[in-house]
Amino acid sequence: MKRSTLALAMAASVAAIALAERRRPLRPASSPAAPRIARNLAMGAMCAVVVALAEQPMTQAIARTNIARRRGLAGLAPRPLAPVVAFLAMDYGFYRWHVATHRVPLLWRLHRVHHVDPDLDMSTAIRFHFVDMVVSLPWQAVQVRLSGIGPRTLLAWRRFFFLSILFHHANWRLPGQWDDRLSLLLTTPRMHGIHHSQRLAERESNWSSGISLWDRLHGTFVAGVDQALIPIGIDDSAATADVALLPAIAAPFA
Ligand SMILES: [Zn+2]
Repeated sequence: MKRSTLALAMAASVAAIALAERRRPLRPASSPAAPRIARNLAMGAMCAVVVALAEQPMTQAIARTNIARRRGLAGLAPRPLAPVVAFLAMDYGFYRWHVATHRVPLLWRLHRVHHVDPDLDMSTAIRFHFVDMVVSLPWQAVQVRLSGIGPRTLLAWRRFFFLSILFHHANWRLPGQWDDRLSLLLTTPRMHGIHHSQRLAERESNWSSGISLWDRLHGTFVAGVDQALIPIGIDDSAATADVALLPAIAAPFA
């Protein structure tokens, strides 16, 4: 697909999700939307710089060598299955990384900045600390190397993953039983809403970011929580102050 067509498809998806959030919100907002979205966009822009300058060139270089040497998990699989194996391995790698960002204190300091957002919508999907992106680089190198993913499958996985995080952070009540049905395969807004709860038992669930299978396999899948009653965010004493842009950037080093 042409780059311009892809950019158009991405813009259309973002516009469609934004419209759906307005028409069918899943949870009531607890703070003014405009400053929150502006802040999240600014943090997303900082992360995009790290992705463009470091993550993308590094992972693509490893992926090119994967193909040349037929190595990693995909290298062990029969050729027609190699892209599927690599895709699944990458997705599972991110499940493990997400668990680590909550369990390793140093990583949690950075990932907490994402969870501090007092409301959850599509803009929260890009609210990460740019240093979080930097410290994930060694893990990503290992993940790409072990998966054996090639550059084209990596590009496809990255696009899928980005759309998935926009989708499951969205404050969007899907029609009928669609959220439940989709959650058999993918991470959905209801699933991820539970993960952003202040209640620890709920936060320590639904770690998947793409395919939801990993939560089901690990017994960490949680559903059936009333979304309107989920206290979104973090309930530590510094959380309210750390929502704003500069405190959020400084928070992990405090
Ligand atoms: Zn998390």
